Amino acid sequence: MLIERIWSANPYRNFHYLVACPQTGEALAIDPLEWRLCLQAAREKGWQITQILNTHEHRDHTGGNAGLVGATGAKVLAHEGAASRIGGIDRGLAGGDIVRVGRLELECLDTPGHTMAHICLLARADPPALFCGDTLFNAGAGNCHNGGHPRQLYETFVTQLARLPDETRVFPGHEYLARNLEFTLDREPDNAAARQLLEAARGQAPAATTLTTLGEEKRINTFFRLQNPTVIARLREAFPDIGDAPDARTVFLKLRELRNAW
Ligand SMILES: [Zn+2]
Ligand SMILES: [Zn+2]
Repeated sequence: MLIERIWSANPYRNFHYLVACPQTGEALAIDPLEWRLCLQAAREKGWQITQILNTHEHRDHTGGNAGLVGATGAKVLAHEGAASRIGGIDRGLAGGDIVRVGRLELECLDTPGHTMAHICLLARADPPALFCGDTLFNAGAGNCHNGGHPRQLYETFVTQLARLPDETRVFPGHEYLARNLEFTLDREPDNAAARQLLEAARGQAPAATTLTTLGEEKRINTFFRLQNPTVIARLREAFPDIGDAPDARTVFLKLRELRNAW
């Protein structure tokens, strides 16, 4: 499996991805807002973009569809629940569906929370790769302001993402690494791994930002550290009523609430 990450250089800090089959050169473009950059990258590699996948219906993920379809004739795939809002969808996706790119097979995970019609795409390669849109970011979690719900986001984190192999590489829809690590350290000042990665991240151009694995996420992403004593102790300072042994869902929801205003 060949993966090309494309930095949008736009104010939303979008990442786009091309996933290509090494045998056939067919490529899938994921959330190609700046579609000319994706097309240029594919041409430089000698790949043909035959499909576009939107992880969800937000405009900063779908706004490049028409341009890229016009240039390539690619088919557009998205969650079946988002298809009518996006428009121009050739294939509606549900959890468990397989997306074939040449000889590659990628699995659709139905991952509500950021919106209620969000797909994460999982390649069970060695190592696995997760294209997670605005559900999971490097060191952070998506917000739920525009059509989502934090309870569903919690369920997605706990019942799906946290169960994937630790070596899974995380390819999110935006570059927010340093900002997210600052939040982790605000919640858990003694997290040495997060501090070390933040120092590295501050010196990186966005296009060269470190990509994490899920194993690293469990060490540096506060939304995976729901039973950490420091996280809970700090949270009680803001929310004394949660008690000294809050359940994981309460911790997640309170962290999400704090991050909204942070
Ligand atoms: Zn979004
Ligand atoms: Zn987005």
